[in-house]
Amino acid sequence: MGSLREDWKETGKDLGGAFKQLGKSIVKSGATVVNKANDWVERDDAKEEARKAAEVEKAQKEKAAKTVICTKCGAEIADPEALFCLKCGEKLNR
Ligand SMILES: [Zn+2]
Repeated sequence: MGSLREDWKETGKDLGGAFKQLGKSIVKSGATVVNKANDWVERDDAKEEARKAAEVEKAQKEKAAKTVICTKCGAEIADPEALFCLKCGEKLNR
């Protein structure tokens, strides 16, 4: 699925071209309809972008929750099973 919006993007372009063949007032109202439809498509894209950004942020938080900072050398240990610093061998506080 999801092709409906892609279809509409193409349809919107076609409509835009078709309206240009008509009278000025019709072009105006037609362009408004096409612009509104394009706004809708773009808003939906923006929503999708926001959803992806939220997913990335969530993944970063989860990674940060598992990450331990070595108290001796400051290395970031992302391995949740690690008991000792992978860099300097210091025991990790958990
Ligand atoms: Zn260390």
